[in-house]
Amino acid sequence: MKKLALHWKILIGMFLGLIFGFIMLQVGGRAFTEDWIKPIGSIFVKLLKLIAIPLILASLIKGISDLKDISKFKNIGIRTIGIYIVTTVIAISIGLALVNIMQPGDGVSEETIAKLTETYSENSSVKAKIAEASKQKDSGPLQFLEDMVPDNAFSALSDNRLMLQVIFFAIFLGISLLLIGEKRAAPLKSFFDSLNDVVLKMVDLIMLTAPVAVFALLANVVVSSDDPDILFALLKYAGVVVLGLILMIVIYCIFVATFTKKNPLWFLKEISPAQLLAFSTSSSAATLPVTMERVEEHIGVDKEVSSFVLPVGATINMDGTSLYQAVAAVFIFQALGLDLTFSDQITIVLTALLASIGSAAVPGAGMVMLVIVLESVGLPPELLPIGLALIFAVDRPLDMCRTVVNVTGDATVSMMVAKSVGKLGEPKVKNWDDHYEEVK
Ligand code: ASP
Repeated sequence: MKKLALHWKILIGMFLGLIFGFIMLQVGGRAFTEDWIKPIGSIFVKLLKLIAIPLILASLIKGISDLKDISKFKNIGIRTIGIYIVTTVIAISIGLALVNIMQPGDGVSEETIAKLTETYSENSSVKAKIAEASKQKDSGPLQFLEDMVPDNAFSALSDNRLMLQVIFFAIFLGISLLLIGEKRAAPLKSFFDSLNDVVLKMVDLIMLTAPVAVFALLANVVVSSDDPDILFALLKYAGVVVLGLILMIVIYCIFVATFTKKNPLWFLKEISPAQLLAFSTSSSAATLPVTMERVEEHIGVDKEVSSFVLPVGATINMDGTSLYQAVAAVFIFQALGLDLTFSDQITIVLTALLASIGSAAVPGAGMVMLVIVLESVGLPPELLPIGLALIFAVDRPLDMCRTVVNVTGDATVSMMVAKSVGKLGEPKVKNWDDHYEEVK
């Protein structure tokens, strides 16, 4: 296996995991898989999450303190946010166009709706999502800005869900470091430089276990999946979401080719380990360390750009999620026989944009914010559990697919921003054992 490229090893691991999962389902090995296989995947995801905060902190501080003038940072910031909004609006528009043309909700029979409602509307996870959404909805318009500013740096650093607060703190510290002058900044700067190198090495080491970990993750997804009959009833809806997501990948390839003049197939190949992990973990936050490593070392985006664009993207840029929210919202209305006007669809564009920004980068988060999209276009509260029940069975596989798009979108935008500020260079691949000879 030594010569095989990483993405092939991961793909083989995924494939074997799927087969193993199906066999376990047949022989009643669900409990065995949960007890003995699932922990391997969970440990891998924990390791990735473990290094996410140190990596953001070190790489953002290093990225900013490497800038020779702060106005460059403003440039990067404005471009990043601007392109993120544009790609998200494109994604939502694609979703809306497809769901209106293909009308997946019209084909759902009364029996299917009754069966889905009976199976899932009382489901604790559906209820939890609605409850969580109502918490988010009660906040004021500037709440998100308030939430971004930590009042205690250490508590921000100790909670993975507070990634935006960590980003805020790192930017603040990085800019201040620039302002105290090179000589006085030197000790702290070299500390963060070195921390950054160490964490990237940890990514390399963790990735050595990726093929086995994805085996475990996928085997577990298969054994905990729902009744295949139900999945089949939702095939058309799932097909529309997946088609939209594929179109988004095509759009990214067009952007890469036109704006960065790089070969899109090369881009997809280099970024593929991150995509495969996004698929296996359903979490752009857990995938972030790998996305950063691939984009910097294998694609050649300078850290000054990637250290800002990628962590911010993981938290606010979710093209796959917003596309899914648009399709799911219209599908639910179609299936329940309710009308949506043109202005409702415009409302969906705006709320799905905000909802995807507000969605956490963890499994299943897109569905929480979908509740807010559904409410904004007037789905009565008593129909909310039924609406979510309609799509719940296929949510996990769709989550896996939309997370791939979320991560690919971030990587694409980092290349575009890097190119536009002259920071897209040649890849410099570092292997886990580059200095092994010196220490072994
Ligand atoms: N799982 C997605 C992510 O982490 C969010 C979602 O759509 O649920 O990017």
